[in-house]
Amino acid sequence: MSGELAVVGGGGGFIGGHLVKSLLDQGYKVRSVDIKPIDEWYQVHEGVENVQADLKLIDSSMEYMSDADRIYQLAADMGGMGFIELNKALCMLSVLTTTHALMAAKEGGKCKRFFFSSSACVYNADKQKCEDVIPLKEVDAYPAAAEDGYGWEKLFTERMCRHFREDFGIQTRCARFHNVYGTFGTWDGGREKAPAALTRKIIAAKLSGNHDMEVWGDGKQTRSFMYIDDCVKGINMITDSDNVLEPINLGSNELTTINGLVDILEDIAGIKMNRNYNLDAPKGVNGRNSDNDLINEYLGWEPGIKLRDGMERTYNWIYEQMTTKSGVGAS
Ligand code: NAD
Repeated sequence: MSGELAVVGGGGGFIGGHLVKSLLDQGYKVRSVDIKPIDEWYQVHEGVENVQADLKLIDSSMEYMSDADRIYQLAADMGGMGFIELNKALCMLSVLTTTHALMAAKEGGKCKRFFFSSSACVYNADKQKCEDVIPLKEVDAYPAAAEDGYGWEKLFTERMCRHFREDFGIQTRCARFHNVYGTFGTWDGGREKAPAALTRKIIAAKLSGNHDMEVWGDGKQTRSFMYIDDCVKGINMITDSDNVLEPINLGSNELTTINGLVDILEDIAGIKMNRNYNLDAPKGVNGRNSDNDLINEYLGWEPGIKLRDGMERTYNWIYEQMTTKSGVGAS
């Protein structure tokens, strides 16, 4: 690997920051590209070429990606349900980042592997109507009825990756992430996802003594959550594999309810909350879980870090952020 250049689009983000570290540890030369000013990145690793650029622009993608041996395209305008339900056009514009990254890979002619971060939001909504879920298999993305905006963009881009592989020989790999959580990610500001948002609320309650909290939906929605270390391990295995050509689930299959997640957090924090359910808030589908048969078949592995363990690590990190930065207990 030494000398091979790996470029991470969206390297200033949550998953990208962890992936950059893993690629460095594997001996790659790493370039990390993100639209945010570098002082706003979650992690800035030494020994990496860190670049602020908008990968929606073809010139930026050509400049920073066409010389890559490996491209990891994670750049996307995204957030939790509160963001994606209210910003469908912005989510769809992310199609430009992967389009231009694929064109750069083709133009450069060096790219041995191209990874695209898809999402469980590609799955047909009809299969996610009740809390008592049947885990989603890869084939359940069709007939297509994805999450409007964000999910359709991911589904379309998966197809584009497939056709760049078939028509131009770019070795594309796509993983459908199911709810990733962990350290060095968004925990406030409106783009955070449920695990980080609930963690923040419970820490704020612990710090302030006010134990009232708002829970989006009725708390009975079911989900699975994957700890970041499993996500990065999965990205590496899927990208390196010779046989995972079609989009594949990358998620935990440890199912919980949102109430179950709050129970875990109460236990970690050592407090009890008064839960107020906001039935008008964005809450996403009623139930979703990852079927891991295919990843087990291809890779002999699936994400296995227990929710309780991952949440404890996440809690400790967010606690540190909230108590050492200004804005303690921000809503
Ligand atoms: P994130 O928001 O922390 O990271 C995405 C990064 O992309 C951000 O730092 C953002 O500034 C950057 N970006 C956005 N537009 C850009 C542009 N035009 N040019 C350059 N950089 C740009 O999100 P994340 O959780 O790390 O997600 C990474 C990828 O994984 C995304 O593609 C996301 O859709 C996908 N995904 C994440 C989850 C999850 O649970 N976190 C679930 C499914 C899919």
